Amino acid sequence: MKILVTNDDGIYSPGLSCLAKCAAEYGEVIVMAPDVEQSSMGQAITSAKPITYKTSPIHFEGMKAFRVSGTPADCVALGTHLFEDIDLVLSGINIGSNLGNSAWHSGTLSAARQAVLFGIRGIALSVSVGEDEPDFDALEPYVKAALQETVKEHEMELLNINFPRHPQGDIVWTCQSIRHYDGKVIQQQDPMGRDHYWFTVFPIEEVEEGTDRWAVKNGKTSITPMILDLTNNRIWENKTGNKI
Ligand code: MN
Repeated sequence: MKILVTNDDGIYSPGLSCLAKCAAEYGEVIVMAPDVEQSSMGQAITSAKPITYKTSPIHFEGMKAFRVSGTPADCVALGTHLFEDIDLVLSGINIGSNLGNSAWHSGTLSAARQAVLFGIRGIALSVSVGEDEPDFDALEPYVKAALQETVKEHEMELLNINFPRHPQGDIVWTCQSIRHYDGKVIQQQDPMGRDHYWFTVFPIEEVEEGTDRWAVKNGKTSITPMILDLTNNRIWENKTGNKI
């Protein structure tokens, strides 16, 4: 199996090293990650200028590894262009959860989605953060368990996996929590007294049972199967008389 590993936190992220190491159990791993952090870039591609890549400044044991002057989606495009027969794209492990509506903003999940657009399976992995940085050595067995559950499931094109800060071992299959949106614009002032604005995210306390948010809040690893089709089937069926 040939696996492309990428992320949106950039080539230096310890989450990327952890994922690449865990992925190596399944075959050849090629690491291709942004040279700087690209969090919240969604599925943006660099279309107005060229992208380039260089050998990674940090060593990935036994793997080819590169940093790319582009977005997570660019990394997937370039990686699948340069290296033939990629079977799977793994993206992460993002430092910070990607739950509910953050699927729209997440560069981590978007890299996996970009793989699916190319006809390759994509799995995104993220871990919740508290006040301190995640302990990826402690997380490793849970990452391995989640990969064990998913890597060989060939009908699952796109998966969004989220680990709680301190996993307890349960893995649950969830749906995306979309009832509440956590994005908010906050007005503040710079040192010169001028107004500026942060578009930021506030934790949502309310959770619906069975959702990704609920799972992670309860210490479980969440796996959400996803699809690319955004069609509103109810309206489509109404307007056309067709049935899914
Ligand atoms: Mn990120």
